[in-house]
Amino acid sequence: MAFEDATLALERAMTVVAHLEAVATTPELRAAYNAVQPKVSALMSSIPLSPGLFQMLTGFANTDAARALDATRGRFLSKTLDWFKREGAGLAREDKLRLEQINVELTEITTRFAQHVLDSTNAYELIVADAARLAGLPERVVQAARASAEQKGKAGYRFTLQAPSYVPLLTYADDRALREQMYRAMNKRASGAPHDNRELVKKILELRREKARLLGYADFVDLVLHDRMAHDGARASHFIADLEQRTRAAFAEENAALQAFTGDVELRPWDIAYYAEKQRLALYDFDEEELRPYFPLESVLRGLFDIVRRLYGIHVEEVNDLPVWHAAVRGFRIKDADGSLLGYFYADFFPREQKRDGAWMNAFLTGEVRADGHAPHVGLICANVTPPLGEAPALLGHREVETVFHEFGHLLHHMLSRVPVRSLAGTNVAWDFVELPSQIMENFCWEREALDLFARQYKTDAAIPEALYQKLKRARTYRGANDMMRQLGFATLDLELHRNFDPARDGEVVARARELMSRFAPAQLPPEYAMLLGFGHLFAHPVGYAGGYYSYKWAEVLDADAFSRFSAEGVFSERVGRAFREHILSRGDSRDPMELFKEFMGREPDLRALLARSGIGEAQSVSA
Ligand SMILES: [Zn+2]
Repeated sequence: MAFEDATLALERAMTVVAHLEAVATTPELRAAYNAVQPKVSALMSSIPLSPGLFQMLTGFANTDAARALDATRGRFLSKTLDWFKREGAGLAREDKLRLEQINVELTEITTRFAQHVLDSTNAYELIVADAARLAGLPERVVQAARASAEQKGKAGYRFTLQAPSYVPLLTYADDRALREQMYRAMNKRASGAPHDNRELVKKILELRREKARLLGYADFVDLVLHDRMAHDGARASHFIADLEQRTRAAFAEENAALQAFTGDVELRPWDIAYYAEKQRLALYDFDEEELRPYFPLESVLRGLFDIVRRLYGIHVEEVNDLPVWHAAVRGFRIKDADGSLLGYFYADFFPREQKRDGAWMNAFLTGEVRADGHAPHVGLICANVTPPLGEAPALLGHREVETVFHEFGHLLHHMLSRVPVRSLAGTNVAWDFVELPSQIMENFCWEREALDLFARQYKTDAAIPEALYQKLKRARTYRGANDMMRQLGFATLDLELHRNFDPARDGEVVARARELMSRFAPAQLPPEYAMLLGFGHLFAHPVGYAGGYYSYKWAEVLDADAFSRFSAEGVFSERVGRAFREHILSRGDSRDPMELFKEFMGREPDLRALLARSGIGEAQSVSA
């Protein structure tokens, strides 16, 4: 525990400073943070490389005192030793040196990979001179393209490979040649001089394989998954292959339906988003903006707090006397059913300059176990939802409501933690488990019963009309099998390249990637398809998502499956809520996550709930 406590003060200070840097930065703070941050990283990464510490921990592990540790502390000891070993602590001198070289090379090459993607993305532009070619595009997109051209001192309309330009063009432009040109440019990024990623990808795969072997693993996926819920590559691959097989029929049906909708047009990759949007409009005519008046932020929060009171017996109340970093930030207190204090949290909902994008949750303080109970936790949730406009209150889109619920789920994982070891507490869990408490909360945003608690038209107090609710539900599963296959394609590519790819047998890596992705594509891919060379998730960081892309679907299986217990026993079931709190939310990483899941569900995860939620027909039970 002395080892555990050694970094406590530093971590607390850095958490607060990094947080302020993200939400209320100043040039001075940024300079101070940038000056100290590399030193902190260097210190942290030197810990598992310290031979003295490793010897001490190994020595301790062989004592009776270590063998007598309770389950959580015993797990902490063995996870710490595993961490040291995965960083090379147990290696002979020259292997250690080689590992260091590999790590340096991987950092350097993956950085170059990321720069090539960025540079080749930025190097491309498409100027359209004739406004008539822009038919079909929403006015705001045309205006943005016009402004972009002006900014570059050019006539006409400028399109780029950045998402806000590329996505609407592929979705709405009636001009097929225009869509084709953009699609082809996007999928051959970083495939030629001066930004060619071909050799880099080969080298990254080789280095990762060598690193895994050096550390005693069969391949890089096994190394990365060692301390994750899936445990090894074989299981992750089996999981993904199983989902693929169960999705294939629905995938074929969706594609046939789209083909029938478009008639004689032979669908190419640059046609899919375009016709899918036309089909979606024809089928559902659903505009998400229609829902916004039903989601004033205050009602959403009231509903959210009411739901967690019913499920977990906890009481959330706003407090006005916490110090805050900006006047818009709010403070809340959470009490348990018996009135005891669980902790405080901050909520920072709206965008500002000096605040970064996106939504996230963070733990400021992890309360420790005391003789008389448990010290309170402190956490926060941040988002960037639509702020109030004029007289109206802040009205959220449905996705924004989901975001607030999602981050609050992460927050509860922290606030309800009852783990005696800080490093294993709260959200400090395996990467493929951490989204269970957050994603499960999103389900409540789709249940009529739950929505009726808080989704009220802000002027009339009316509930969401049934017809609108049905549209929302149906639009959720529209082309669900295509969305699923897309993600499964990326996961398969990741697992295959990191587990099995052998250049001598499989040939050129870009061609192999195209061959793998073809199975998951709704239309035949062009021969020069080189999406792999722009796939930053896998190659822009020394590890990043490499070996772990499957986690997206894995986490969805967990939350859909766990929520099925709520659906079956009652969306507000106190019994199920208390069980989820006891077996999942309070336990952090104090036990293997698969064991925690089994404690809650009484069995291993089952894929069927996710398939059903994605609108994919399914029959037999099958486990992940
Ligand atoms: Zn999350």
